Amino acid sequence: MIETSKLVAWLDQTLEPEKFTDYCPNGLQIQGKDQISHIVTGVTASLALIEKARELNADAILVHHGYFWRNENPTLQGQRLKRIRALLESDINLIAYHLPLDAHPIFGNNAQLAKQLGLNPLRDAQGAPVTCGPGSLVWLGHPEVTEQSVRELAGRIQTQLARHPVVVGNFEAKAGLVAWCTGGAQSMQEAAIAAGAQTYVTGEISEPNAHIARETGTTFISAGHHATERYGVRALGEEIARQLDVKVTFVDLDNPA
Ligand SMILES: [Zn+2]
Repeated sequence: MIETSKLVAWLDQTLEPEKFTDYCPNGLQIQGKDQISHIVTGVTASLALIEKARELNADAILVHHGYFWRNENPTLQGQRLKRIRALLESDINLIAYHLPLDAHPIFGNNAQLAKQLGLNPLRDAQGAPVTCGPGSLVWLGHPEVTEQSVRELAGRIQTQLARHPVVVGNFEAKAGLVAWCTGGAQSMQEAAIAAGAQTYVTGEISEPNAHIARETGTTFISAGHHATERYGVRALGEEIARQLDVKVTFVDLDNPA
């Protein structure tokens, strides 16, 4: 059992949200019980995740995608109201970290995706990952398997993430220098190419990405927004369970997007 304020302080210290300009508040988004003995972790604070947390008698939900996004309608209506009502009724704390959980050098989505896909991040003299793109959110590295082809990398994605990736490029080409950013980072494709990447892996694809890949002779791989972002919050939850006196359950709810 841990006090809610102590858990949030530990998370803030670990993830350093003050270093990011984000699209949502990071940390405690909706206050619930003062004491936490069971945390449910998941990618998105959907109604299904809240119901699962209620079923498991959890005291807190820790997610990558919380609420109160910039530019969304802030009024409490429809699904937004239903979710928040369900949390308030059960006194469950909602804790969310967005960009800090993408970028963390160990528990972050990019770091954890690299492990899943067998990518060795390039590191600077201090050991920090070499990044590019807006907010330094795109990581760069090479496949552990030397001379890995695009086909082999796509196969690894399919096996590890249990999701069929969308690949635009030459399957027989070498993956080469790979850039990756989990989630909806398709707009960072050109920054990745400018940094020298031969292959760019992200969660989602938009129409222009295919043209840019073909015109530059590079490969674009969309591996799923949810599928690329389930590993950060899971790793963070495992660390919480190791470090603090609290039970943590990761709940993966399928999402084809
Ligand atoms: Zn995301």
